[in-house]
Amino acid sequence: MSVNRPFYFGTNVKMTHTPEDTRIFLQMLTELGEELPADVRLFYLPPYTSLHLRGCSSLPSSVWLGAQNMHEDEWGAYTGEISAAMLRELGVELVLLGHSERRERYNETDEGVNRKVQAAVANGLKFILCIGETEREKRCGVARETLSRQLKMALHGLAACHLSKVHIAYEPVWAIGEKGSSAPPGHVAKMHAWIRNVLEELYPQESASVPILYGGSVNEQNCAELARTPLVDGLFVGRAVWDAENFRKVLYLSLASRMDKIES
Ligand code: PEP
Repeated sequence: MSVNRPFYFGTNVKMTHTPEDTRIFLQMLTELGEELPADVRLFYLPPYTSLHLRGCSSLPSSVWLGAQNMHEDEWGAYTGEISAAMLRELGVELVLLGHSERRERYNETDEGVNRKVQAAVANGLKFILCIGETEREKRCGVARETLSRQLKMALHGLAACHLSKVHIAYEPVWAIGEKGSSAPPGHVAKMHAWIRNVLEELYPQESASVPILYGGSVNEQNCAELARTPLVDGLFVGRAVWDAENFRKVLYLSLASRMDKIES
């Protein structure tokens, strides 16, 4: 695999950014998108209430605005839900599917995530699929089984011609959020290798280009090491980059470390 694979970097801002915060962030992302090398892809996932701002932004094609979730059906009596077609109409190009908070707190199942995958693809949306083991699964030695199940079930029935829409985020549940701590790079490398093998099993000819990102307590201190960890195609960052200046700082530290790796 080439060392010059694109590098992905972005954030899911959960319930934090207001439309005004989003406006500031989009301005910063527009500037960044114009100054960064062509093989860097940025993504930003604000709450639904900010997605309409896609229409008045002039984001370069290397910066994607995405939603944090969506409903799997086209329409129906689902008060409070948003469909893929609605996102599409706002100009949104990306959607996050299967985040562990949705699996845990909203009882999202692997079957439900699979239906969302199908809906995303039917509506031309790229998606980031989150997978990751819990602390208990890691302790009991079944992390790989969890990753295989989540991947195979989410991608079930997806034709290889749609793989350009697929981005995987390995997010161990125990590493996410204030109570978590980042996975050691050695663990990340092993799990990314496992995910890569499962993708190859599913799509023997076509899966090499599917990016695998790492997420879970990435910050200014650990981003450099994680960015240069083998088989890491990008970083999915939360709290540490919700402030626009911090986003820029962590991104540049990650890119510098990546460049060192390529040059050494
Ligand atoms: C996340 O919520 O998916 C995440 C990676 O958050 P954090 O970086 O804050 O752990």
